Amino acid sequence: MSTYLTILGFNSAIPTINTSPTAQLLEMEERCFLIDCGEGTQVQLRKAKARFSKINHIFISHLHGDHCFGLPGLIASFRLLGRETPLHVYGPKGIKKMLETIFSITETHRGFELVYHELGKDYSEKIYEDNRVEVFTIPLDHRIYCNGYLFKEKPKERHINMEEVSKYSEIETCDYHNLKAGKDFVLSDGYVLKNEILTTTPAPSVSYAFCSDTRYLESVIPIIKNVTVLYHESTFLHDLKEMADYTGHATALEAATIAKKAEVGKLILGHFSNRYGDLTVFTDEARTVFPNSYLPKALECVKI
Ligand SMILES: [Zn+2]
Repeated sequence: MSTYLTILGFNSAIPTINTSPTAQLLEMEERCFLIDCGEGTQVQLRKAKARFSKINHIFISHLHGDHCFGLPGLIASFRLLGRETPLHVYGPKGIKKMLETIFSITETHRGFELVYHELGKDYSEKIYEDNRVEVFTIPLDHRIYCNGYLFKEKPKERHINMEEVSKYSEIETCDYHNLKAGKDFVLSDGYVLKNEILTTTPAPSVSYAFCSDTRYLESVIPIIKNVTVLYHESTFLHDLKEMADYTGHATALEAATIAKKAEVGKLILGHFSNRYGDLTVFTDEARTVFPNSYLPKALECVKI
């Protein structure tokens, strides 16, 4: 299975006719992760033809409205759609109080379990793991407590080459587990069948790092080293570096510098201030440092 990222919204602060605040949908190894949930995210999910029932894990970077005000509405819709499976919400300490207060005052009832994973550490930690995917926090430096998230496919099993395997009656189905793990097979006469003949190499495991609102922060570099794709906010151009620092944001030049130092495969910029009309100024600036920098397009589905 390939990994796809759909950019649902990439603007900062105020939604406009054509742009929505931050939200992304990451489909990795058949899991569906929603990352941030700005106002209007459920409409964007509809436009992207996403299946709401597939979203079981939501990761919120911080509790500023442009990253989480879409969450109460989305959760209310889940209930109206008859959801029964638990929903896991990861976010800063306080997210439970925020949501439960809204649900209480508005008498919004849920027919499913909401499992909160409140975060407060200032170092990277693994917060999700299954047999194919791991998710880690990326502590950031914003005006309030904020995390990015690193999503990693685990190393994949090798594929059985049935054409070769079927030539040897000694190899049974119960041996496939060892073959997929990369082990050779020893025949009863002692002859060693090399694993690379009996199996084929799987597609490389990919990774995606989401660096939400943050000042330029070099401590993220070792966490996101060599990721396949990095999203990094770039609210301003570098001539407004002072403004960026003051408001807890980064510039396109700084996002590109992080991408270069972390030796990532590709950089996607985002969270642009509404003061800019033509967004190509962001890639123009970023590409002076990191040529593989791109602008997001609304509802674009990017293969990771
Ligand atoms: Zn923001």
